Amino acid sequence: MGHPEEPGQMIRLSYNDIHKAIQKTAVKIKDEFAPTLFIAIGGGGFIPARILRTFCKTTTEGKKRNIPIQAVGLTLYESLGGIEEVAGTEVVRTQWLDFSTLGKNFNHGGLLGRRILVVDEVDDTRKTLIYTIRELQHDIKVQLEAVSDPDEKERLREETKLAIFVVHNKLKPKTAELPPDVQYFSAVDTPDVWLAYPWECDGDIDEHDRLRSENQDS
Ligand code: 5GP
Repeated sequence: MGHPEEPGQMIRLSYNDIHKAIQKTAVKIKDEFAPTLFIAIGGGGFIPARILRTFCKTTTEGKKRNIPIQAVGLTLYESLGGIEEVAGTEVVRTQWLDFSTLGKNFNHGGLLGRRILVVDEVDDTRKTLIYTIRELQHDIKVQLEAVSDPDEKERLREETKLAIFVVHNKLKPKTAELPPDVQYFSAVDTPDVWLAYPWECDGDIDEHDRLRSENQDS
């Protein structure tokens, strides 16, 4: 991961590129997964999760309702030690879920019975996604252990689902496979180059959008 120096090695994205890519994939996500909770991985997943929410409302008692968004904060930490250590990276958890705010199902811990969609902007090495899924599976397991009725426990185990949505999936070897029961949605597959998102632009956003037209596929 890094900023390639050569021009053409970077893909610049405008806000509208991302909005349209999410709008298109939202149809498939609604049909094939029908999420009831978003977990946005910060900071890159925050804006995609908010855009996705616009296109994925649930209908309860005839009324359209927004799907709640919860946030987790994860940072890929690259050790600055010796060469071997630099190759080894790990995910640092800077923020996690507040189960007490996860709604009426609080007595079930907040995750049980939900169709949980984890949202991030890009799947690069996949480390962040693997870490997040493992942690959520652990939280779900702990919450299931607290359910005493075996039938209720089985029902909740069956109903609780995890899936992933990323705006961009870089086509490259990943560090690990995702569990087969975790559905995976990506809006756009990209080559393994640096993706420059509009919300990261700390200079002139109009210039960023102008330079976007130099992308090879434009
Ligand atoms: P992972 O390697 O765990 O899949 O990705 C870790 C994080 O690195 C992503 O959530 C994202 O914040 C950042 N990242 C990886 N590749 C890119 C990229 O091409 N552009 C940007 N802006 N961030 C990236």
